[in-house]
Amino acid sequence: MKRPVASFIAASWFAIAAFAQAPPPAGDPHQWKMTATDTPSRISEHVWMVKGNPNIAIIVGSRSAMVVDTGMGPAMGRIAAGFAAKLAPGKRLYLTTTHFHPEHAAGDSGFPADTILIRNDVQQMEVEHDGMDMVKAFMEHSEENRDLLKDVAFRMPDVTFHDEAKVDLGGGVMVRLMWLGGAHTEGDELTFVDPDKTLISGDVVQNATLPMIYTGQGKGGTPTSWLHVVEKLQALHAEHVVPDHSYPGDGSLVTKEEKLIGEIRARAIDMKLRGVSADEAGTQISAKLKQEHPDWHNTNASGFVKNVYEDPATGGSEKNSPGSGVPTAPLKPKAA
Ligand SMILES: [Zn+2]
Ligand SMILES: [Zn+2]
Repeated sequence: MKRPVASFIAASWFAIAAFAQAPPPAGDPHQWKMTATDTPSRISEHVWMVKGNPNIAIIVGSRSAMVVDTGMGPAMGRIAAGFAAKLAPGKRLYLTTTHFHPEHAAGDSGFPADTILIRNDVQQMEVEHDGMDMVKAFMEHSEENRDLLKDVAFRMPDVTFHDEAKVDLGGGVMVRLMWLGGAHTEGDELTFVDPDKTLISGDVVQNATLPMIYTGQGKGGTPTSWLHVVEKLQALHAEHVVPDHSYPGDGSLVTKEEKLIGEIRARAIDMKLRGVSADEAGTQISAKLKQEHPDWHNTNASGFVKNVYEDPATGGSEKNSPGSGVPTAPLKPKAA
């Protein structure tokens, strides 16, 4: 028996309207946990956010939907996919990931098998080279992580691209997936949704949060390459920004990120030129940030200051090539 079209549309509308009434999230974003009973917040006409650590974005077009990030491990991936199924029942599902870290990418096997997984090739190299080492490192952090990550097996992507891919979700909803260079990792991916002008910014543009280049597994970007990425994002004129580990906001978050990174970098370069040690510069710059942003959860910039000292673009001697974020040689999976 066929379900009457009108009642189906009404049911979908009610589901979306109920989601739209969710109050904005509260508390420390690093303590947010995604659960299946959460209510997503509507960020813009076609974009929803499920709060968590990280936040998960869901973009809905007339034919297809896309989820950005998976949550920590397959069980979280199943929850994220469940939200997509509620917001976009019966539609084709795409999945992309902001970067290769476990809470962002290691839940892909929790998605339905016919989900189309797409990501940039630099990030894919990081998944293959460092993904499982990073999962093992995360499992050491807590009993909870050990449980969430015990069954991780990364899926191979259905589609990879280098610097940009456009995905048409139908009804005029166009998603631009972009790799603009290294930042928090080498393969950070940025997602921009038209016509909403909504940027899903990963760990690259955050809200009231210090930048952190992760080099424990994988190489990460440099302060200079990160700044270049944010400068390129300015050209998009985003009106809404959904970061991974902080509160969503408007387009001013991009300008604030550029200013924050630019200022830390300039202060660190100045101290380096005056012969101040990297440790001392980290202490002084962190103290100044604490004064300037007393409400921030973390103002310890020592790691990022050290990154500035080592940045080849500002006279450092690390292995990274300035501003490129491109691995100097193709990465190969490590032997087990
Ligand atoms: Zn990360
Ligand atoms: Zn993250």
